[in-house]
Amino acid sequence: MRYFDHNATTRVASEVLEAMLPYFQGQWGNPSSAYSFGHQLTQALDEARASVAALIQAEPREIVFTSCGTESNNAAIHSALATQPDKRHVLTTAVEHSATIKFCNFLQKRGYNVTFLPVSSDGALEVGRIEESIRPDTAMVSVMWANNETGVLFPITEIAAICRQRGVLFHTDAVQTPGKLEIDVAALGVDFLSLSAHKLQGPKGIGLLYVRRRVKFQPYIMGGGQERGRRGGTENVPYIAGFGRAARLAGANLIEENTRVRRLRDKLERGILDKIPGASRNGASEPRLPNTTNLAFEGVEAEGILMLLDQAGICASSGSACTTGSLDASHVLTAMGCSAARARSSARFSLGIDNTEAEVDYLLERLPGIIARLRGNREWTRMDAKEGKGSFFNR
Ligand code: PLP
Repeated sequence: MRYFDHNATTRVASEVLEAMLPYFQGQWGNPSSAYSFGHQLTQALDEARASVAALIQAEPREIVFTSCGTESNNAAIHSALATQPDKRHVLTTAVEHSATIKFCNFLQKRGYNVTFLPVSSDGALEVGRIEESIRPDTAMVSVMWANNETGVLFPITEIAAICRQRGVLFHTDAVQTPGKLEIDVAALGVDFLSLSAHKLQGPKGIGLLYVRRRVKFQPYIMGGGQERGRRGGTENVPYIAGFGRAARLAGANLIEENTRVRRLRDKLERGILDKIPGASRNGASEPRLPNTTNLAFEGVEAEGILMLLDQAGICASSGSACTTGSLDASHVLTAMGCSAARARSSARFSLGIDNTEAEVDYLLERLPGIIARLRGNREWTRMDAKEGKGSFFNR
C-alpha cells in the first residue's frame, strides 16, 4: 500500500504505541484516585502535557486535553460565546473544516450570527476582510491556519494582531500544522488553538485545546474536575501518553517534512502537471503546507480516479475524509470559485515522512494511464475543453 493521505490520518508511530501500552494493563488506574496506584498516573499526564506544550511553546497549564480536534474547535467557540453572553457573532471563513462550519451552522439555528468570509480563487484570505467584518458584538474570530484540502496557509499572526487590537478573542484550528510548521503560540498571538494527535502519528480520539493564560474559559464538557475543571471526564491516560510522545516526534520531524517531504511533494506535483494534459493545481503554490497538493483533472470524476488508484494500491482522497462518500462537491473548492464539475474532478495527495521516492515514482507511473482510461483512452487535448467536453475547467 502506498499512502498519500496523511492529511486524513497518519500511522501511529512505534514509539507512540510503546508509550501507550503500559497504561492499558499495567498502570490502568484512575489518575483522580487518592491511592498511589491511581494517583501515580498524574506523572504520566504531567509529562505528556509538558511535551505537547513544548511543541506549541505554551505553558503546560494552558493545555486542555480533549477527545479530538472537532471537540477542540467546538469548545473554543462555545467558550467565547458562553463567557461573553452579550456578544452573539462569530467570524470565520467559508473554507474551515466541518468541525467549525457545522458547529457554526448549529449556532445560526440557535439565533447566533455567523459570518463565513469568502476566499480568493487561489484559496487566500484577505486580512482586510477580517478587519472590516469584526462587529461590536463579535465574540470570536476562528480561522484555520492550514487548509486540510489545499494546504493553503492563512496569515494567522496578522489576524491575531487585528483581533487583539479590536479586543476580540481569536481561535485557530491548527490541526494540520504540527511537524510541518513551527508553532509558537505567543509569537502567533492566538488565544485558542486546536490540535489532534492522529494527524501527527498519534492515536485517533485525542486532541487538545490551547487556552491562553488569563483568558476566561467555560467548559464544553462538564463533569468531574479533570483538566483543572476545564474538561470533565476521566483522562484517557494511554492516549494522552501517546499524544505526548507523538508531539516530541513531530518536533523532530519538522526539518524532514520541510526538506525531503517537500521535495517529494514538488516532484509529484510537477510530474503530474507535466505528464497529464488538463491537470491543474487548486490553490496557491505558496504559502502552503509542504506535504499537500490538490489537483483537478479535466474531464474525469475524482471518484473514478480514487477507485482506480485504490486498485493500484494507492490511497489518496478527494478532499476532506469527512465529506468523502457524499456526492457534494468540496465546500473548500466551491468557496474558491471552482465549478461543481471542477471540484468533483479534484484529488488531494498529502505526503508524510513514511513516503519514499519510489512510491512517488510509482504514482507518477500509474496516474497518467488511469486518467487516460477514465477519459476513454482518447488523446486528451486542449481542443476538448474548447468543444465543451471540458468546459467546467473554466472556473
Ligand atoms: N480540523 C482540521 C483542519 C482537520 O483536518 C481535522 C481532521 O480531519 C479536524 C479539524 C478534526 O479533527 P478530529 O478528526 O481529531 O476530530
